[in-house]
Amino acid sequence: MKQIKLKYGIKSGELVHILEVESGLACSCICVSCHETLVAKKGMKRENHFAHASGHSCEFAAETALHLAAKEILNKHRKIMLPPAWIEFDTNRGRYQISDAKSVTIDSLKIETKIETLIPDLIATVNDRDLLIEIFVTHAIDEEKTAKIEQLGISTIEIDLSKAPRDMSMESLKEVIIDKIENKRWIYNARVKSEFKRMLNQTRHMDITSRGFASHVDYCPIKVNIWRGKPYANVIDDCIYCIHCVSYPGDVICCNGHLDPNDIYKPKLCT
Ligand code: SF4
Ligand SMILES: [Zn+2]
Repeated sequence: MKQIKLKYGIKSGELVHILEVESGLACSCICVSCHETLVAKKGMKRENHFAHASGHSCEFAAETALHLAAKEILNKHRKIMLPPAWIEFDTNRGRYQISDAKSVTIDSLKIETKIETLIPDLIATVNDRDLLIEIFVTHAIDEEKTAKIEQLGISTIEIDLSKAPRDMSMESLKEVIIDKIENKRWIYNARVKSEFKRMLNQTRHMDITSRGFASHVDYCPIKVNIWRGKPYANVIDDCIYCIHCVSYPGDVICCNGHLDPNDIYKPKLCT
């Protein structure tokens, strides 16, 4: 297995790349993880990298450095490209986009600051709203943290660097952190939540009736089927694929087929 080369160190409290420092002990750097003295190995046959002066092989240095570098980059550039956001329905309607990918300016940034019971990597302020940013190098956001975020109701994205080379250059890392969206995902999006709630509030709860092996909803507003003059829908064949079915919690169909099409909030279908 290729050994990961440590490319970042701390100099006078600042994160620096190997290319920014003098060679040898003159680099005046310490390790981001264990804080031992580093030696800059430069101009040799092997690629430039830092090594611990003691010869100690530091298990977490490269990962910690990548995590720190990602935070430094956001702090320096104060902007980020956000991924598109969409509503995913609990039916088979597919997913509907409510916002495109967009670059936003970060007005202020707090690093590892406690917010109630949570310590996110970063709290950014964008257009007067908080945005939590989590950098995933070794620990993805787990269910417990997700639940806390949902409780807080603050939009949160995770930037996944788990498969990124630990020794990637500052420039490549900047591209991934600031400019690209491929490795970013919404853990929670407040607008998705509120728009889904808005759609749900527009619905009528239609009771489900069992008829033999079939589950029916009587008085389907778009009259998808008619039996002896009475409109009905089959839950499995009709409702869960129907554009008007906003939610299927199990005992009812939340349907907006009764509304004037102009009054229905319609996010864009994702392809
Ligand atoms: S979800 Fe569609 S098929 Fe089902 S009752 Fe409503 S309009 Fe009819
Ligand atoms: Zn170390």
